[in-house]
Amino acid sequence: MDIKSKIRVIEDFPKPGISFKDITTLLLDGNAYKEAIQTCIDQLEGVDYNVIVGPEARGFLMGAPMSVMTGKGFVPIRKPGKLPGETLQHEYELEYGKDVLEVHKDAIKPGDRVLVVDDLLATGGTAKAVCELIEKLGGEVAGLAFLIELNFLNGREVLEGYNVYTVVGYD
Ligand code: IMP
Repeated sequence: MDIKSKIRVIEDFPKPGISFKDITTLLLDGNAYKEAIQTCIDQLEGVDYNVIVGPEARGFLMGAPMSVMTGKGFVPIRKPGKLPGETLQHEYELEYGKDVLEVHKDAIKPGDRVLVVDDLLATGGTAKAVCELIEKLGGEVAGLAFLIELNFLNGREVLEGYNVYTVVGYD
């Protein structure tokens, strides 16, 4: 199946000049969604990980089904104030301003081998922040998996030193 053909591209969203990759059309087709998740898992053959971590909200749409299909645990990364337990925060720079991510402190144990997942790799800023959060808790980033990669934004450079896996790319 051509997974890319299931992803809708909407021009000038959320701002003029941005060509937004909309995965809701993929999600709507259960078989295509399942195949996308399976492809993402299959390309990780040989990667040794015991837990999957994904940032809200679209990281949940990738990470939770991958967790169910592999039997590995899933750890949600959230915006501040959403998680009820004791959390660790990480602040990171955006193009304009700052953002903060949070994780439950007891969700990652020292020595855990963590797979970071999200729907899309753009500049790599979000994924890098997630890696830093995991490492602060003593986890080791075994790899990062994305459904989509925007090749022209060179997110892989920001993630240099990590193993990055993607299913479809846009030039
Ligand atoms: P980055 O931090 O620049 O790599 O941006 C990645 C984050 O932005 C991911 O969490 C994506 O969900 C979101 N994102 C950026 N561009 C798009 C897009 O075109 N479609 C869907 N999500 C996007």
